[in-house]
Amino acid sequence: MEPVHVLEIQKTCDAAFIEAVEAASGQQVRRCYQCGNCSASCGYTRFYDYPVSQIMRLVQLGQRDIVLGCRSVWLCAACQGCTTRCPCNIEVAKVMEALRVMSRQAGMVSEGDVRVFYDELLRSVKAFGRVFETGLLPVYALLSRKPFTDMDLAPGVIRKGKLTLLPHRIAKRREVAAIFDRVEEHRRAKARDGQQKGPPDA
Ligand code: SF4
Ligand code: SF4
Repeated sequence: MEPVHVLEIQKTCDAAFIEAVEAASGQQVRRCYQCGNCSASCGYTRFYDYPVSQIMRLVQLGQRDIVLGCRSVWLCAACQGCTTRCPCNIEVAKVMEALRVMSRQAGMVSEGDVRVFYDELLRSVKAFGRVFETGLLPVYALLSRKPFTDMDLAPGVIRKGKLTLLPHRIAKRREVAAIFDRVEEHRRAKARDGQQKGPPDA
């Protein structure tokens, strides 16, 4: 018999965390009534430490540290299956995305390899206008210290012509890079703004 997964709730509810998640995701997490459709739709539930419906519940209960430090938010593939099936029209995948950002900002990323992959993928898109897999994969393997990861898939992928020696040349590559620069500039401005205002009141 499968062990029952019991939530270990901390005693305090962080109300500011609930508001922050709702503001960052643009979703009303409070409307979730725990039907479980999202977890039933999620192909990753068996790898998660908390199924996505439990993540929603933990957010409702203001369990900041459990949520931001869990594996589930980083293993989520952003496939939108949960969003599609939610009877409350909550964009659950957006909530998961907001939690990834918050987890990173809080320095609580549980899956370092996933973060490395995200970083390198975005670097590749910025440099080439789209992902250059042949360049991305060795860098990821090196940085994640898994040099032989997914090597067994290589022959099939090469046979199907999915890996190219050189990056594709796409039109408006510079415009794509400019989007990244604008985001960086926006982040820097926000950080400067935060420094000028000083730390938030306790
Ligand atoms: S978006 Fe994430 S949480 Fe939602 S179904 Fe897909 S993998 Fe699961
Ligand atoms: S499908 Fe929607 S209402 Fe149901 S548990 Fe998931 S988030 Fe909550």
